[in-house]
Amino acid sequence: MSVPCIELQILNLKNETDYKMKPLIGIPTRTQVENDLIRYSALATYTRALDLAGGAPVLIPLNLSDDTLRTIFERLDGLLLQGGVDVHPREYGEEVAPYCGEIDEARDATELRLTRWALQAHLPILAICRGIQLLNVAAGGSLYQDIAAQVPNALQHPHIKGNPYSFRAHTIAIEPESQLARALGTTQLEVNSLHHQAIKHVAPRFRVTARAPDGIIEGIEAENAHHFALGVQFHPEWMIDEEPRMLGIFDAFIRAMNHRNEER
Ligand code: MN
Repeated sequence: MSVPCIELQILNLKNETDYKMKPLIGIPTRTQVENDLIRYSALATYTRALDLAGGAPVLIPLNLSDDTLRTIFERLDGLLLQGGVDVHPREYGEEVAPYCGEIDEARDATELRLTRWALQAHLPILAICRGIQLLNVAAGGSLYQDIAAQVPNALQHPHIKGNPYSFRAHTIAIEPESQLARALGTTQLEVNSLHHQAIKHVAPRFRVTARAPDGIIEGIEAENAHHFALGVQFHPEWMIDEEPRMLGIFDAFIRAMNHRNEER
């Protein structure tokens, strides 16, 4: 039969070449179980921030075959690692301590594969909260399984119930000569804090770019200045409306992808 008229009209509304092509950013999802059914999801705050900054986010399901995952990876211009539950300590050579939190092994497997491919290909990576921890582990570093249990005199880093997610919990000091300082346009900033784990040993070929006043690592990036691989322990996507400088992190990520694509 014939194609419905309405579809032809929609097709005619806009020439295919009228679209501004944006870099495609993969966001590995998380396992969400409800009524014995599994969903793979991501928080809207990440997709909104990437869209605002000029990126095109796509969600990546978990438990895919290697060929399928690689097929998706090959189309990506960048990788965003979102926040979430704890990385399995075996990934950095430790047993699960009693104070370790919830673990999502399907997510670990997908994110570790994608992140290692991205590191190898110099694909731009932005890693937030659990993301900075996953990035550090993927590159060979380790984590504190619980700050409160393992770091004496640490500040309150976990979320306090009732506070907004954008609550400014502590300051960070940022290395002046870093992608993070350039992206934010400052070396001192108040940030939110919703994590109970943190980086212990920084991965080889990465460096610390931000710390909380208690020494907890709040930012890392690749030593290779030609590879944008940046992690933050705070959540810039939850602060962009009150602190516009936070969007600068997403802008820098998009610029890195556009720059890389122009060079290829
Ligand atoms: Mn913190």
